Amino acid sequence: MKAGLFGGTFNPIHNGHLGIIQYVKAHYAFETIILYPSALPPHKPNLNLASARDRLTMVKRAIKNLNGFQVSDIELQRKGPSFTIDTISQFKTIFGSHTRFHLLLGSDAFFDTPSWKQANRIFGALPVIVMQRGEKTDMEPYASFIDEHVSKGYKLKSDNIFVHDRLFPIRICNVPRIDISSTQIRNRIKSGKSISGLVPEDVETFIKTKDLYK
Ligand code: ATP
Repeated sequence: MKAGLFGGTFNPIHNGHLGIIQYVKAHYAFETIILYPSALPPHKPNLNLASARDRLTMVKRAIKNLNGFQVSDIELQRKGPSFTIDTISQFKTIFGSHTRFHLLLGSDAFFDTPSWKQANRIFGALPVIVMQRGEKTDMEPYASFIDEHVSKGYKLKSDNIFVHDRLFPIRICNVPRIDISSTQIRNRIKSGKSISGLVPEDVETFIKTKDLYK
């Protein structure tokens, strides 16, 4: 089985997340994409962070009517900060070798990987798909970043794929530009503006019921 892993703070999940993962699922023919909210995002100390349980519930509500998506509480079960390499290892152990996992990263997350715990092990563990917003990508910043911060020896093949003889490929995928962010949603709620159309209706109802982000 070919499966995508997509982690995020999802504070809250929004239609931007849903748009890109549906695009990536179709484009790479994933059978499933697993979304896993971070319990304690090590990189986003955030004063307006909804509880992990609430963020998980919102993800569940958001994907409920979509085919081929799952949500996992794997990072909520672990104690301490959530490191992606530990999460990947755990998924591999749980699902076994017949599941071919790919890690989906937003370009901001990808360029942030040098600050992650043992990030280099990620590229030795599974293929990575970097979701780059917009239609065209200048590959030069990716090439120099990969060379400097991921590993020497990656070569750009056609189709925006960097290949290596020991490590897994890194694919740069142009995803539709959807200008929505969780920050924008939280700010809108704080200033009393509507978030209709930015999150699925069931998520909007949940946010209202629980009075989140006020
Ligand atoms: P915040 O505004 O709180 O920083 P966010 O909207 O970026 O949050 P995250 O949960 O941190 O949401 O996102 C997980 C990943 O999804 C990130 O790597 C981010 O780049 C990507 N992402 C979020 N929104 C979009 C979007 N509209 N289009 C493409 N990628 C997105």
